[in-house]
Amino acid sequence: MRPTEDSYRFQGLRKKLVDIIAAKGITNEKVLQVIGKIPRHFFLDSAFGEEAYADKAFPIGEGQTISQPYTVAYQTQLLEIEPFNKVLEIGTGSAYQAVVLAEMGAQVYTIERQKKLFELNKNFPLLKKYLTIKFFYGDGYEGLPTYAPFDRIIITAAAPEIPEKLIAQLKPGGMMVIPVGAGDVQQMMRITKQANGALKEEVFDNFSFVPMLGGKNS
Ligand code: SAH
Repeated sequence: MRPTEDSYRFQGLRKKLVDIIAAKGITNEKVLQVIGKIPRHFFLDSAFGEEAYADKAFPIGEGQTISQPYTVAYQTQLLEIEPFNKVLEIGTGSAYQAVVLAEMGAQVYTIERQKKLFELNKNFPLLKKYLTIKFFYGDGYEGLPTYAPFDRIIITAAAPEIPEKLIAQLKPGGMMVIPVGAGDVQQMMRITKQANGALKEEVFDNFSFVPMLGGKNS
């Protein structure tokens, strides 16, 4: 079960977590503020207890993980979210990253291919207050053509290469943040679609994500 009670103790642990990720190099004040605000323990089984505030990835079932807070902050910082940006997220998982994006002021469209994880979020009380997040069950490689184009796209699973269909769903001037690599380690990349449609690619640090898989899992 996911816990629903916050406490001063957990708030204190969040402050420490913010200090840890700031020390690791996250500088965007809004990102730090949001990480300090969201009760990460709500997204994990109650068995995790205070461990929920360790700067670590944890299992969330179906062989998947909630990303490490530093990684969530890193990707969010690279996205340079502006209020009311339409953001597509591939890999809802625990929905922690989706809530971070919503707290950054984004209109979030998030896709998960694991039916069980998708269903779990349907009954997640915390999400009732986030009307700016829309949840989809499907294959992220297809994106959401009906809702495209997007100002920002974030992929939270390891992509063997940059998915063309998703690039097509990016607005001119839009950005995609994606960990790219087929092996155990991926390079964080930011692809900016310029006004003339040309792509600018930037490469950042190495990370290790669960793989972005094709199709849906029921
Ligand atoms: N953003 C999540 C991280 C979850 S890990 C969080 O904050 O908790 C990555 C997630 O991507 C997993 O839940 C996995 O099932 C999902 N995933 C992998 N390939 C996918 C695809 N093609 N489409 C949608 N989701 C995918």
